[in-house]
Amino acid sequence: MECLLDYTKEEMIEKLAPLGIKGYRVEQIFVGLNQGKTFVEMNIPQDIKQTLANNFASQPITILDKRISVDGTIKFLYRLSDNNIIEGVLMKYKYGNTLCVSTQVGCRMGCKFCASTLHGLVRNLTAGEILGQVVTINKFLGGKLGENRMITNIVLMGSGEPLDNYENVTKFLRLVTDKKGLNISERNISLSTCGLVEKIKQLADDGFKVTLTISLHASTDEERKELMPIANKYSIKEILDACHYYYSKSNRRVVFEYVLVKDKNDSFEDAKKLAGLLSGLMSHINVIPLNSVEERDLIGSTREQAAKFVQMLSKLGQSATLRRTLGEDIDGACGQLRQKYIDSNGNLN
Ligand code: SAH
Repeated sequence: MECLLDYTKEEMIEKLAPLGIKGYRVEQIFVGLNQGKTFVEMNIPQDIKQTLANNFASQPITILDKRISVDGTIKFLYRLSDNNIIEGVLMKYKYGNTLCVSTQVGCRMGCKFCASTLHGLVRNLTAGEILGQVVTINKFLGGKLGENRMITNIVLMGSGEPLDNYENVTKFLRLVTDKKGLNISERNISLSTCGLVEKIKQLADDGFKVTLTISLHASTDEERKELMPIANKYSIKEILDACHYYYSKSNRRVVFEYVLVKDKNDSFEDAKKLAGLLSGLMSHINVIPLNSVEERDLIGSTREQAAKFVQMLSKLGQSATLRRTLGEDIDGACGQLRQKYIDSNGNLN
Protein backbone atom coordinates (compact mmCIF):
# COMPACT_ATOMS: atom_id res chain seq x y z
CA MET A 1 0.00 0.00 0.00
CA GLU A 2 1.32 3.45 -0.87
CA CYS A 3 2.16 5.67 2.06
CA LEU A 4 0.89 9.25 1.99
CA LEU A 5 3.85 10.60 3.95
CA ASP A 6 5.92 9.88 0.84
CA TYR A 7 4.32 12.72 -1.07
CA THR A 8 4.85 16.43 -1.45
CA LYS A 9 1.79 18.60 -1.09
CA GLU A 10 1.49 18.93 -4.87
CA GLU A 11 1.62 15.15 -5.26
CA MET A 12 -0.95 14.74 -2.51
CA ILE A 13 -3.32 17.11 -4.29
CA GLU A 14 -3.04 14.92 -7.39
CA LYS A 15 -3.43 11.65 -5.50
CA LEU A 16 -6.42 12.76 -3.47
CA ALA A 17 -8.42 14.61 -6.12
CA PRO A 18 -9.79 11.42 -7.74
CA LEU A 19 -11.04 10.40 -4.28
CA GLY A 20 -12.94 13.68 -3.98
CA ILE A 21 -10.63 15.12 -1.33
CA LYS A 22 -9.69 18.66 -2.23
CA GLY A 23 -8.72 22.14 -1.11
CA TYR A 24 -8.04 22.87 2.54
CA ARG A 25 -8.64 19.23 3.47
CA VAL A 26 -5.46 18.23 1.62
CA GLU A 27 -3.51 20.81 3.54
CA GLN A 28 -5.01 19.56 6.79
CA ILE A 29 -3.97 16.02 5.92
CA PHE A 30 -0.46 17.11 4.89
CA VAL A 31 -0.05 18.95 8.19
CA GLY A 32 -1.51 16.08 10.21
CA LEU A 33 0.85 13.55 8.65
CA ASN A 34 3.84 15.78 9.34
CA GLN A 35 2.68 16.05 12.95
CA GLY A 36 2.95 12.26 13.10
CA LYS A 37 -0.77 11.59 13.15
CA THR A 38 -2.51 8.57 11.72
CA PHE A 39 -5.75 9.20 9.78
CA VAL A 40 -7.86 8.33 12.84
CA GLU A 41 -6.11 10.99 14.90
CA MET A 42 -6.81 13.77 12.40
CA ASN A 43 -9.58 16.29 12.84
CA ILE A 44 -11.38 15.38 9.61
CA PRO A 45 -14.79 13.83 8.85
CA GLN A 46 -15.22 10.12 9.42
CA ASP A 47 -15.91 9.31 5.77
CA ILE A 48 -12.64 10.95 4.66
CA LYS A 49 -10.72 9.01 7.31
CA GLN A 50 -12.25 5.85 5.92
CA THR A 51 -11.49 6.71 2.30
CA LEU A 52 -7.88 7.52 3.19
CA ALA A 53 -7.43 4.33 5.20
CA ASN A 54 -8.86 2.25 2.35
CA ASN A 55 -6.31 3.63 -0.08
CA PHE A 56 -3.16 4.63 1.79
CA ALA A 57 -0.97 3.96 4.77
CA SER A 58 -0.33 7.04 6.90
CA GLN A 59 2.87 6.61 8.95
CA PRO A 60 5.54 4.25 7.56
CA ILE A 61 7.42 3.79 10.82
CA THR A 62 6.70 2.71 14.38
CA ILE A 63 9.00 2.77 17.38
CA LEU A 64 9.70 -0.82 18.37
CA ASP A 65 12.11 -0.23 21.21
CA LYS A 66 14.49 2.31 22.69
CA ARG A 67 17.68 2.23 24.72
CA ILE A 68 18.80 5.16 26.81
CA SER A 69 22.49 5.90 27.35
CA VAL A 70 23.99 7.22 30.56
CA ASP A 71 24.73 10.41 28.62
CA GLY A 72 21.05 10.88 27.72
CA THR A 73 21.39 9.76 24.11
CA ILE A 74 18.52 7.54 23.01
CA LYS A 75 18.82 4.84 20.39
CA PHE A 76 15.53 3.93 18.72
CA LEU A 77 14.64 0.77 16.90
CA TYR A 78 12.05 1.45 14.22
CA ARG A 79 9.94 -1.11 12.48
CA LEU A 80 9.15 -0.64 8.80
CA SER A 81 6.04 -2.01 7.14
CA ASP A 82 8.00 -4.97 5.66
CA ASN A 83 9.36 -5.90 9.13
CA ASN A 84 12.82 -4.60 8.48
CA ILE A 85 14.24 -2.84 11.49
CA ILE A 86 16.37 0.26 11.27
CA GLU A 87 18.04 2.30 13.97
CA GLY A 88 18.23 5.97 14.77
CA VAL A 89 19.80 8.07 17.48
CA LEU A 90 18.59 11.15 19.34
CA MET A 91 21.28 13.36 20.83
CA LYS A 92 20.48 16.14 23.25
CA TYR A 93 22.64 19.21 23.15
CA LYS A 94 22.34 22.58 24.88
CA TYR A 95 21.12 24.17 21.68
CA GLY A 96 18.54 21.54 20.82
CA ASN A 97 17.89 17.97 19.76
CA THR A 98 19.75 16.34 16.90
CA LEU A 99 18.27 13.29 15.24
CA CYS A 100 20.54 10.91 13.35
CA VAL A 101 18.53 9.25 10.59
CA SER A 102 19.13 6.18 8.44
CA THR A 103 18.77 6.31 4.66
CA GLN A 104 19.05 2.62 3.73
CA VAL A 105 18.44 -0.76 5.32
CA GLY A 106 22.05 -1.91 5.48
CA CYS A 107 24.68 -0.40 3.19
CA ARG A 108 26.80 -1.61 0.28
CA MET A 109 29.85 0.58 0.77
CA GLY A 110 31.77 -2.01 2.80
CA CYS A 111 33.80 0.31 5.06
CA LYS A 112 36.04 -1.84 7.23
CA PHE A 113 35.16 -0.14 10.51
CA CYS A 114 31.39 0.14 10.24
CA ALA A 115 28.64 -2.19 11.51
CA SER A 116 25.95 -0.89 9.13
CA THR A 117 27.52 -2.57 6.12
CA LEU A 118 28.21 -6.03 7.59
CA HIS A 119 25.37 -7.69 5.67
CA GLY A 120 25.38 -5.49 2.59
CA LEU A 121 22.47 -3.46 1.29
CA VAL A 122 18.96 -4.79 1.87
CA ARG A 123 17.06 -1.92 0.30
CA ASN A 124 16.76 1.83 -0.03
CA LEU A 125 14.45 3.71 2.31
CA THR A 126 11.69 5.74 0.69
CA ALA A 127 11.50 9.50 1.25
CA GLY A 128 8.54 8.87 3.57
CA GLU A 129 10.48 6.33 5.62
CA ILE A 130 13.31 8.81 6.13
CA LEU A 131 10.89 11.63 6.94
CA GLY A 132 8.92 9.23 9.15
CA GLN A 133 11.90 8.92 11.49
CA VAL A 134 11.91 12.67 12.12
CA VAL A 135 8.13 12.95 12.30
CA THR A 136 7.86 10.03 14.74
CA ILE A 137 10.53 11.25 17.13
CA ASN A 138 9.29 14.84 16.98
CA LYS A 139 5.89 13.55 18.06
CA PHE A 140 7.47 11.28 20.68
CA LEU A 141 9.09 14.40 22.21
CA GLY A 142 5.79 16.28 22.19
CA GLY A 143 6.85 18.54 19.32
CA LYS A 144 4.57 20.27 16.85
CA LEU A 145 5.48 21.87 13.53
CA GLY A 146 7.52 24.95 12.64
CA GLU A 147 8.71 26.94 15.66
CA ASN A 148 7.27 24.38 18.02
CA ARG A 149 9.11 21.36 16.71
CA MET A 150 11.34 19.46 19.12
CA ILE A 151 13.89 18.28 16.56
CA THR A 152 16.18 21.15 15.67
CA ASN A 153 18.93 19.42 13.72
CA ILE A 154 19.18 16.39 11.49
CA VAL A 155 22.25 14.41 10.54
CA LEU A 156 22.03 11.86 7.74
CA MET A 157 24.55 9.67 9.49
CA GLY A 158 22.60 6.58 10.41
CA SER A 159 22.88 3.38 8.44
CA GLY A 160 23.23 3.69 4.68
CA GLU A 161 25.00 5.89 2.16
CA PRO A 162 22.66 8.85 1.49
CA LEU A 163 24.06 9.60 -1.96
CA ASP A 164 23.58 5.97 -3.00
CA ASN A 165 19.84 6.66 -2.56
CA TYR A 166 19.87 10.08 -4.19
CA GLU A 167 16.28 10.45 -5.39
CA ASN A 168 14.65 9.46 -2.11
CA VAL A 169 17.12 11.38 0.03
CA THR A 170 16.72 14.62 -1.92
CA LYS A 171 12.97 14.22 -1.88
CA PHE A 172 13.21 13.81 1.88
CA LEU A 173 15.21 17.06 2.05
CA ARG A 174 12.46 18.85 0.15
CA LEU A 175 9.78 17.43 2.45
CA VAL A 176 11.50 18.10 5.76
CA THR A 177 12.30 21.70 4.79
CA ASP A 178 8.72 22.36 3.60
CA LYS A 179 7.33 25.51 5.22
CA LYS A 180 4.05 23.77 5.97
CA GLY A 181 5.79 20.71 7.35
CA LEU A 182 8.59 20.46 9.90
CA ASN A 183 10.31 23.39 8.19
CA ILE A 184 13.81 22.48 9.31
CA SER A 185 16.38 24.72 7.65
CA GLU A 186 18.99 23.18 5.36
CA ARG A 187 21.58 24.91 7.54
CA ASN A 188 20.60 22.54 10.32
CA ILE A 189 20.91 19.42 8.21
CA SER A 190 24.18 17.54 7.63
CA LEU A 191 24.49 14.99 4.86
CA SER A 192 27.37 12.59 5.37
CA THR A 193 28.87 10.66 2.49
CA CYS A 194 31.82 8.38 1.85
CA GLY A 195 32.37 10.54 -1.25
CA LEU A 196 30.29 9.65 -4.33
CA VAL A 197 31.76 12.30 -6.57
CA GLU A 198 29.10 12.62 -9.30
CA LYS A 199 26.34 12.79 -6.70
CA ILE A 200 28.10 15.50 -4.72
CA LYS A 201 28.20 17.58 -7.89
CA GLN A 202 24.57 16.79 -8.61
CA LEU A 203 23.61 17.90 -5.10
CA ALA A 204 25.33 21.22 -5.79
CA ASP A 205 23.68 21.54 -9.22
CA ASP A 206 20.28 20.76 -7.74
CA GLY A 207 20.74 23.77 -5.46
CA PHE A 208 20.94 22.08 -2.06
CA LYS A 209 22.66 23.93 0.76
CA VAL A 210 22.88 21.29 3.45
CA THR A 211 26.16 20.86 5.31
CA LEU A 212 28.12 18.42 3.19
CA THR A 213 30.09 16.06 5.40
CA ILE A 214 32.75 13.82 3.90
CA SER A 215 33.91 10.65 5.62
CA LEU A 216 37.56 11.00 4.69
CA HIS A 217 39.38 8.96 7.34
CA ALA A 218 42.76 8.98 5.57
CA SER A 219 45.19 11.42 4.02
CA THR A 220 46.45 9.25 1.17
CA ASP A 221 44.58 7.08 -1.33
CA GLU A 222 46.61 4.01 -0.28
CA GLU A 223 45.65 4.43 3.37
CA ARG A 224 42.06 5.13 2.44
CA LYS A 225 41.79 2.01 0.29
CA GLU A 226 42.67 -0.10 3.32
CA LEU A 227 39.66 1.26 5.17
CA MET A 228 37.12 2.10 2.49
CA PRO A 229 36.54 0.13 -0.74
CA ILE A 230 35.01 3.24 -2.36
CA ALA A 231 38.55 4.68 -2.43
CA ASN A 232 39.25 2.30 -5.33
CA LYS A 233 36.68 4.19 -7.36
CA TYR A 234 37.31 7.82 -6.41
CA SER A 235 40.60 9.41 -5.43
CA ILE A 236 40.84 11.93 -2.61
CA LYS A 237 41.69 14.53 -5.22
CA GLU A 238 38.44 13.88 -7.11
CA ILE A 239 36.47 14.11 -3.87
CA LEU A 240 38.13 17.38 -2.92
CA ASP A 241 37.45 18.81 -6.38
CA ALA A 242 33.78 17.95 -5.89
CA CYS A 243 33.89 19.63 -2.45
CA HIS A 244 35.33 22.81 -3.97
CA TYR A 245 32.52 22.69 -6.50
CA TYR A 246 29.90 22.21 -3.76
CA TYR A 247 31.35 25.15 -1.85
CA SER A 248 31.36 27.36 -4.93
CA LYS A 249 27.67 26.67 -5.50
CA SER A 250 26.35 26.57 -1.93
CA ASN A 251 28.77 28.81 -0.08
CA ARG A 252 28.68 26.27 2.74
CA ARG A 253 31.76 25.16 4.60
CA VAL A 254 32.48 21.47 4.07
CA VAL A 255 32.98 19.23 7.10
CA PHE A 256 35.33 16.25 7.08
CA GLU A 257 35.02 13.28 9.38
CA TYR A 258 38.26 11.59 10.35
CA VAL A 259 38.08 8.39 12.37
CA LEU A 260 41.29 7.73 14.25
CA VAL A 261 42.57 4.18 14.04
CA LYS A 262 45.40 3.35 16.40
CA ASP A 263 48.81 3.30 14.70
CA LYS A 264 47.19 3.56 11.28
CA ASN A 265 46.22 7.14 10.54
CA ASP A 266 46.86 9.03 13.80
CA SER A 267 50.48 10.21 13.51
CA PHE A 268 51.89 13.71 13.21
CA GLU A 269 52.72 12.94 9.57
CA ASP A 270 49.07 12.09 8.95
CA ALA A 271 47.92 15.36 10.52
CA LYS A 272 50.35 17.28 8.34
CA LYS A 273 49.22 15.57 5.15
CA LEU A 274 45.58 16.05 6.09
CA ALA A 275 45.97 19.77 6.78
CA GLY A 276 47.89 20.10 3.51
CA LEU A 277 45.10 18.46 1.56
CA LEU A 278 42.44 20.78 2.90
CA SER A 279 44.31 24.05 2.72
CA GLY A 280 42.49 26.38 0.38
CA LEU A 281 39.07 24.91 1.13
CA MET A 282 36.70 26.37 3.75
CA SER A 283 36.51 23.30 5.91
CA HIS A 284 36.31 21.84 9.36
CA ILE A 285 37.49 18.45 10.58
CA ASN A 286 35.63 16.37 13.13
CA VAL A 287 38.05 13.94 14.66
CA ILE A 288 36.51 10.81 16.19
CA PRO A 289 38.41 7.98 17.83
CA LEU A 290 37.11 4.81 16.20
CA ASN A 291 34.23 3.23 18.11
CA SER A 292 34.52 -0.48 18.60
CA VAL A 293 32.44 -2.83 16.48
CA GLU A 294 32.37 -6.45 17.63
CA GLU A 295 33.05 -8.05 14.24
CA ARG A 296 35.87 -5.70 13.33
CA ASP A 297 39.43 -5.89 14.62
CA LEU A 298 40.45 -2.26 14.21
CA ILE A 299 41.33 -0.42 17.40
CA GLY A 300 40.54 3.22 18.08
CA SER A 301 43.21 5.69 19.15
CA THR A 302 43.11 6.81 22.78
CA ARG A 303 41.29 10.06 23.62
CA GLU A 304 44.70 11.46 24.53
CA GLN A 305 46.17 10.70 21.13
CA ALA A 306 43.01 12.07 19.51
CA ALA A 307 43.31 15.31 21.47
CA LYS A 308 46.94 15.59 20.36
CA PHE A 309 45.92 14.99 16.75
CA VAL A 310 43.40 17.84 16.96
CA GLN A 311 46.03 20.08 18.51
CA MET A 312 48.41 19.32 15.66
CA LEU A 313 45.73 20.24 13.12
CA SER A 314 44.94 23.48 14.93
CA LYS A 315 48.64 24.42 15.02
CA LEU A 316 48.73 23.88 11.28
CA GLY A 317 45.89 26.38 10.93
CA GLN A 318 43.20 23.78 10.22
CA SER A 319 39.90 24.18 12.05
CA ALA A 320 39.23 20.91 13.89
CA THR A 321 37.44 19.54 16.93
CA LEU A 322 37.47 16.30 18.80
CA ARG A 323 33.96 14.98 18.65
CA ARG A 324 32.34 13.82 21.82
CA THR A 325 31.31 10.20 21.53
CA LEU A 326 27.69 9.83 22.54
CA GLY A 327 25.74 6.67 23.15
CA GLU A 328 28.62 4.21 22.98
CA ASP A 329 27.25 2.13 25.86
CA ILE A 330 24.06 1.45 23.88
CA ASP A 331 25.85 0.73 20.57
CA GLY A 332 24.42 3.99 19.32
CA ALA A 333 27.66 5.72 18.45
CA CYS A 334 28.95 6.36 14.91
CA GLY A 335 29.44 3.14 13.00
CA GLN A 336 27.63 1.02 15.56
CA LEU A 337 24.18 1.04 13.99
CA ARG A 338 23.16 -2.19 12.34
CA GLN A 339 20.35 -3.78 10.43
CA LYS A 340 17.87 -6.15 12.06
CA TYR A 341 14.62 -7.77 11.08
CA ILE A 342 11.69 -9.60 12.57
CA ASP A 343 11.35 -13.22 11.48
CA SER A 344 8.15 -15.16 10.87
CA ASN A 345 7.99 -16.10 14.56
CA GLY A 346 8.03 -12.47 15.54
CA ASN A 347 11.56 -12.64 16.93
CA LEU A 348 14.01 -9.81 16.52
CA ASN A 349 17.18 -10.92 14.72
N1 SAH B 1 27.60 6.39 4.54
C1 SAH B 1 27.71 7.72 5.05
C2 SAH B 1 26.84 7.91 6.24
C3 SAH B 1 27.26 7.14 7.46
S1 SAH B 1 27.62 8.33 8.61
C4 SAH B 1 29.15 8.07 5.28
O1 SAH B 1 30.01 7.25 5.00
O2 SAH B 1 29.45 9.20 5.65
C5 SAH B 1 28.39 7.54 9.81
C6 SAH B 1 29.70 8.21 10.17
O3 SAH B 1 30.29 7.39 11.16
C7 SAH B 1 30.67 8.23 9.00
O4 SAH B 1 31.53 9.32 9.07
C8 SAH B 1 31.41 6.95 9.24
O5 SAH B 1 32.60 6.90 8.55
C9 SAH B 1 31.55 6.98 10.74
N2 SAH B 1 31.83 5.67 11.31
C10 SAH B 1 31.55 4.47 10.80
N3 SAH B 1 31.99 3.50 11.61
C11 SAH B 1 32.58 4.12 12.65
C12 SAH B 1 33.21 3.65 13.82
N4 SAH B 1 33.34 2.34 14.07
N5 SAH B 1 33.68 4.57 14.69
C13 SAH B 1 33.52 5.89 14.44
N6 SAH B 1 32.92 6.39 13.37
C14 SAH B 1 32.47 5.51 12.47
